[in-house]
Amino acid sequence: MRILVVEDEENLAESLRQGLSADGHRVEVAHDGHLGLDLARTGGPYDVVVLDLMLPGLDGHEICARMRAHGDPTPVLMLTARDGERDEADGLDAGADDYLTKPFSFVVLGARLRALARRAGAAEPTVLRVGDLVLDPQDRRCRRGTRDIELTARELGVLACLMERPGRAVPKQDILDEVWDAPHAIDPNIVEVYVSSLRKKVDAPFGRRSILTVHGTGYRMAPDGG
Ligand code: CA
Repeated sequence: MRILVVEDEENLAESLRQGLSADGHRVEVAHDGHLGLDLARTGGPYDVVVLDLMLPGLDGHEICARMRAHGDPTPVLMLTARDGERDEADGLDAGADDYLTKPFSFVVLGARLRALARRAGAAEPTVLRVGDLVLDPQDRRCRRGTRDIELTARELGVLACLMERPGRAVPKQDILDEVWDAPHAIDPNIVEVYVSSLRKKVDAPFGRRSILTVHGTGYRMAPDGG
């Protein structure tokens, strides 16, 4: 699943990122309310959002209410250090789907997130399609038209990043954060190497150009698949 975690306690945010990543999820973290809302609106689609209640900038209620006001149905699990019926009612009124009071067990959090995603139908394997380019991240298969394309795990991750946001510029650092385990220790330019080999596999043999360079930023998947 793609999970957005909005949590200002950096140690907790980092342990959530590590724990959920180790469970095979792709995790993005925001440490304040404004960035959290921004990512929820433009960084997705996410399968589920974990929202801390007390945040600098905008609080969790406000973020959730604004997501719902924009028609965003992404399941939201609210985290709170407070423990009272009123807070829970407030959160659910704001459109949260579930609630967890800190401190919580990571195992319980994982189970609740899976349940939320299942209810939303997001646990179904998602096949990405852009034009005639098809990627099944679950089965690790890629094809263009009827021809299968062999990709390495890393190439597959990079391509999935781009295909999840067709037509949108994706910064190299975002690709690095999603696909590499220790992204801060790695030069973002490594992404170029993988994009270059992807182009040789998904574009060149078919006379297509689907992975476009956005100068100074990163890459963009052509909305029609090239
Ligand atoms: Ca907080």
